[in-house]
Amino acid sequence: MTISIIGIGLIGGSLAITLKENGFADHIIGVDVRQENLDKAVRRRLIDEDMEMEEAIQQSDIIILSTPVDAMLKLLPQILDKVDQQVVIDVGSTKKLLTKAVKGHPKRGNYVSTHPMAGTEYSGPEAAIPKLFDHKYTVFCDVEDSDPKAVQLARDLYTSIPMHILELDTHSHDIHTAYVSHISHISSFALALTVLAKEKDEDRIFELASSGFSSTVRLAKSSPDMWIPIFRQNRDNVLDVLDEHINQLARFRSLLIKQDFDTFYKLIEESNQIRKILS
Ligand code: NAP
Repeated sequence: MTISIIGIGLIGGSLAITLKENGFADHIIGVDVRQENLDKAVRRRLIDEDMEMEEAIQQSDIIILSTPVDAMLKLLPQILDKVDQQVVIDVGSTKKLLTKAVKGHPKRGNYVSTHPMAGTEYSGPEAAIPKLFDHKYTVFCDVEDSDPKAVQLARDLYTSIPMHILELDTHSHDIHTAYVSHISHISSFALALTVLAKEKDEDRIFELASSGFSSTVRLAKSSPDMWIPIFRQNRDNVLDVLDEHINQLARFRSLLIKQDFDTFYKLIEESNQIRKILS
């Protein structure tokens, strides 16, 4: 099986490592906007060779689109214009606008909309790692709009990793990811800015930062090139969740002002319920 990966960064590169290692792919072709990324990917043996997109599409059985989501809006229709039997899979973090961009395309059936729910705060081909996706979930969206054979091939690809598969419609996907992924990034960016604004002594931050602080602000190391397109595409859902989050912060603030530590205690206990879900 020959697979082309368009956008050979953290997600594309990590998929490349895994699919080559587990034998699902015999040959991996890399396509990227920057030759420097492709050279790094060849040096790290993420890909066997690099190519221009059109040639890569012709030579592939599967095309994985793993650029930031704004670039996907342009690239996906262009790729579908050029495919014959090839299956096209995207891994983008937002789904509604992308599926809308190819609605009614004559090759819509060749495309499977997916979101592997795994990642790190790092980006680029140097961030690609093995086992990133092992035993995590991939969401498949609007599978009824894809040809059953294309869906089966995408299933085979993800289960070979191995990953679990969950089906959702694009609308629900974008709402749920606003809750479980997008808001935690904004919260982390805001916390990092708060500490950077209040604590001017960088050495002190470094020396005193506990593991709790480091794990809470870890996501603030994430790339704006990847996240701004996500917030732009999922703005309404993220705004809803952000309003709720601001309400919760305001609740804690008002309890502190009133010195109502009994209610504060109860709220912490309530928040501890997350253990049951995430244990
Ligand atoms: P990344 O590490 O920045 O990789 C994206 C790659 O695509 C980079 O090499 C980038 O090059 C390249 N690129 C940008 N525009 C392009 C274009 N027009 N044509 C070809 N290549 C292009 O980002 P990532 O974290 O792998 O994310 C890739 C996709 O996966 C995104 O859609 C994201 O929403 C989704 N996703 C991310 C995570 C996560 O946690 N990171 C998890 C699940 C899904 P330059 O960097 O040089 O611009």
